[in-house]
Formats: sequence, C-alpha cells, structure tokens
Amino acid sequence: MTRSNGSSPGIQNPAGSPLDPAAPALLTIDLGALCDNYRYLAALAPGAECAAVVKADAYGIGVKRAVPALIDAGCRTFFVATLGEARNLRGVAGDVDLYVLDGLFPDAAPEFAAIDARPVLGSLPEIEDWSRYCADTGEKRPAALHIDTGMNRLGMRPGDVDALADDPRLIGDFTPALVISHLACGDDPDEPMNVRQRTSFDELRSKLPPCPSCFANSAGIFLGPAYHYDMVRPGVALYGARAVNGVANPMKPVVRLDIRIVQIRDAEPGETVGYGANRKLATKTRIATAAAGYADGIFRHLGAADGESGMTAYIGEYAAPILGRVSMDTITLAVSHIPPHLAARGAFVEVIGPHISVDDLAEKAGTIGYEVLTSLGHRYERRYVGLEKQV
Ligand SMILES: *Cc1c(COP(=O)(O)O)cnc(C)c1O
Repeated sequence: MTRSNGSSPGIQNPAGSPLDPAAPALLTIDLGALCDNYRYLAALAPGAECAAVVKADAYGIGVKRAVPALIDAGCRTFFVATLGEARNLRGVAGDVDLYVLDGLFPDAAPEFAAIDARPVLGSLPEIEDWSRYCADTGEKRPAALHIDTGMNRLGMRPGDVDALADDPRLIGDFTPALVISHLACGDDPDEPMNVRQRTSFDELRSKLPPCPSCFANSAGIFLGPAYHYDMVRPGVALYGARAVNGVANPMKPVVRLDIRIVQIRDAEPGETVGYGANRKLATKTRIATAAAGYADGIFRHLGAADGESGMTAYIGEYAAPILGRVSMDTITLAVSHIPPHLAARGAFVEVIGPHISVDDLAEKAGTIGYEVLTSLGHRYERRYVGLEKQV
C-alpha cells in the first residue's frame, strides 16, 4: 500500500531563509566555526606559523568561500595537492604563499611560475627540473623540499638527501623556502613511529642548508611543541573532523547536512525495501524516502540489510534508521514512530549535524571523516553561514 502526503505546514527549514523549493538537500557550512578552528590550532602552536591545507576544494567545503575566510582569520600560507587546485586558489587569493604537495611533473615548471605557486619537490629529478628552470629564467624561485621519514609515498629518501648534501649546486639555482615531512601515524599519540619520524626529520634536515621546517598536519599539532617547528599545516581539523583517535574532538563542527523527504509510504509486514530486496519488514512500517544517495556521498556501506545496522538520520529529536540499501539518489528511513507532521513530505532529515558528527557517519560507513567531507555532494544547495562580515 502506498500513500503520499501533501506538504505539511510547520516544516522546519534549517536554512532559516528561503530555499530553492526544488533543492533536494541543504549543506550548511559554518565559516565562523572554520575560523574559530583555525585560531584554536594556531594557538596550540604559538611559536609556529599556522598554514592551512585546502586540497580537494578545502576538503569538500569549497575553497572559494573557505580561503577568504581563512585569510581573514590570519592565514597566509596554503597547501593544495595539484597545480589545477593552485590555479583555482590564485583566483581567490592573490597575496598568499601557495604550495603544491604533489610536486612537479616534467615540463610543468613554467606553469607553476605563471601563478607564483611553489612546488613541494620530493625527488632529485623534480629538484633538477626546478633548478634548471630557475637557471634558464635567471630567477631564484622558492620551492619546498619534501623529505620522506617513513611514509614511502612522496619525498626524498635518505640517500637522496645525502646526494643533495654532497652536491649543494643542485639547489643553488633556486630558493628552498621550506623543508617538510609527513607523519604516518600522527592520529595515534602512543605510536612510537611518531618519534622515529621526528628524529629522522631532524637528522636529515640538518644535512641541508638551513631553512624553515614544517612537519605537523592536524594530528601532529596535538602531539605537542616538539612537532611544531616553524610552521604547522592542518587540514582535517580545520573542517571540524577528528584528527586524533581515542580522545574527545575539541574542534567545532563546520558542516551540517539535511536532506529532504520526497515521499512517505506505509508498507505491510513481509514486504521488502529497496534494491536486492534484502530488507524484509517484520511489521507494518512507515517509510520516508529522502533525496540523496551514494552519488551525493551517502556511502553504500551506510545501508542496512536484514540483521545489519546502518546509518541513522534524525528528524528533530527522533532517530530514523535506514532501511535497505542506499540508492544512487535516495535513501529509505523507518519513521513509523515519528509524528506525521515531522516525518512529512518536504521535511528535512539530519544526516550530519548535532546528533551525528562527520566522524560518526564515517564510522558507520567503515571510513574516516576525511572521506565523508571530500565526498560531500554537488547536488546539495550550499549555504555559507557564521561570518558577520561577508568575505
Ligand atoms: C593532506 C595533507 C596534510 C593535511 O593533513 P590533515 O591530517 O588533514 O591535517 C598535511 N600534509 C600533507 C603532506 C598532506 O598530504
């Protein structure tokens, strides 16, 4: 049996101001919380400059709004992953230092120079390319050097650092503005690898010409002053997600996601819900279908077949557990116990918000807050709030 409700009066619109009536969901991004998080992290490392990692469109929240807000909060140095991201960022931030973590592809040096972006050089061939370009153009351009202390991902191995130390001409044609390394296990403060990496960083950077050092990501900041050096470069904590496991997260939430109910139906015992028909109803159940799915970053692992517990959304103070699989564009929620004027067509369902943090949702999906943030959908209406002054 299927039944559809008309739109009920009194539906709470979490935006508090007119929404596109066709918007399937509302993503609210609190730039005030972002700035508070920046200042909080900067204050944890008072002796260091606090940069910001804004790769992947500022972890999904949007560089166009996030970067001006961070500049207003005092940030002067930004890290992105790719040159394309650096170009976007230059469009919104003229006068900042801009580092590209993924380094230098062959022949890309002029593209970096064109937007005054600094590659993070992590291998001898990259260093040779940048050196040659600087020598050819007669300008000593800044770049960062990346030393690998245990990630085995990017950065120079100890032998490469020795080669540089033996032949300083390799970096004579450009200006090493920063030397960096990256923690593998910073999210676990008890992990002995943290100290081993720090010791290795100290040993290797001492072989290079003196230059400001940058070691700590978000988690590294929480490891204490020994990890702060001259600059820290948080990412995920700025956006409110957990950087350190096993302790309370002190960051303010930046993201809230509410999706809209498109239909309500009552289904009978014995019927099934969704693809695979893998969720059989034991009792008569009212089902709300809400308008976002895995194409919007609601991971398929958040679904619940028989015997599984998936995600739980909230309508006001009422929990609404998911039923069956996540579809591409929708999820189905159990709402029998929720007053019909709340669980109604057009109403908003909290997916990330006061009841469910980014990390709660990530845990349910078997992933991490980083992936929830960087998967935030592009079909949501986005609202930026929290700043008095528009930046
Ligand atoms: C992504 C990244 C960061 C930021 O890490 P968070 O854990 O998000 O704070 C810092 N440094 C490097 C090299 C990165 O790739």
